[in-house]
Amino acid sequence: MSHIHIDLISDTATRPSPGMLRAMADAPTGDEQRGEDPTTLQLCERVAALVGMDDAIFLPSGTMCNQIAFLVHCRPGDEIIAAANAHIVRSEGAGAAALAGAQINAVPTPTGIFTAADAAPMIRAQRDRAPVTRLISVEQTTNFGGGAVWPVDVLQDLAKLANGRNLALHMDGARLLNAAVASGQPANTHCKGFVSTWIDLSKGLGCPVGAVLAGSADFIERAWTWKHRLGGAMRQSGILAAAGLYALDHNVTRLAEDHENAKLLAHELVGTPGVSVAPDKVETNILFIETSGTGKTTRQINDVLAGDGIRLQPESPTRFRAVTHLDVTRDQIKTAAAAIRRACAD
Ligand SMILES: *Cc1c(COP(=O)(O)O)cnc(C)c1O
Repeated sequence: MSHIHIDLISDTATRPSPGMLRAMADAPTGDEQRGEDPTTLQLCERVAALVGMDDAIFLPSGTMCNQIAFLVHCRPGDEIIAAANAHIVRSEGAGAAALAGAQINAVPTPTGIFTAADAAPMIRAQRDRAPVTRLISVEQTTNFGGGAVWPVDVLQDLAKLANGRNLALHMDGARLLNAAVASGQPANTHCKGFVSTWIDLSKGLGCPVGAVLAGSADFIERAWTWKHRLGGAMRQSGILAAAGLYALDHNVTRLAEDHENAKLLAHELVGTPGVSVAPDKVETNILFIETSGTGKTTRQINDVLAGDGIRLQPESPTRFRAVTHLDVTRDQIKTAAAAIRRACAD
């Protein structure tokens, strides 16, 4: 795929920048699983402070953050309330069921957002035969909900509900910093009342690897056991943590550019025959492009786009997901939009 030079398939398509690579090369290191890697310790401290939690732990991926959170919070037979289109439902190999033994009670919501009023009736009454509702999980921003941002007051209401009903509250914060930038509200405001949350370093932040899971002191202590058990403990991980620290210094406020570029792409596609986009629904760096009226499948359109070195994510035969990120400039968005218009008309 090296000929693809405008890659809108995901914000995971970013490559480490020269500055990031220098920071990685210069990082002081030690043995991470003994708690002796100074750069990893610094990153964990920094992320814990950012999200307003006691402590944090460095992990290879966001998927492992979610799965360790479920393993800590849940016992086999427990239930997790989450959006039906959540990443944990669609894209983690049914890990909650396969690893923690928890089933997901899925809230139907196209944006991926639900309210305390939606969640309250899904909490099971405690009867012999009923699963035990243990956890509510939210995804900030919503990936397959199109990058929508949970309003802070909706999160706060959920926290009240969870605390009142003795439930744990977890945030899949893969793109929490996109939400913080888009809403103008700091990350720790979003996480108030949550027991665990995490941020992905390998998405919009532009790192090659890594995610940081944060939580209460008790939660992180138990998460460490699972990190060892699953083989997530590392050695000189400081070279990866250094990329994370660099990203927190250089790649956070600029997420606003990605959000503007996603909106721009939507605006540029308005009026394309057979194509439906909603610029006013673009809140962050993800947008949907409906192509059902073009008479072509998304695969056919993507094949044409590949000739121009451009690709989108075909979510279905009639809908693309496009994701903007730091390796796509405003000019490239205009180039991509022109190519998409041509490919749809061909
Ligand atoms: C990408 C993503 C994950 C998984 O993160 P990885 O680092 O790819 O394992 C989880 N949740 C959401 C919302 C994501 O977008």
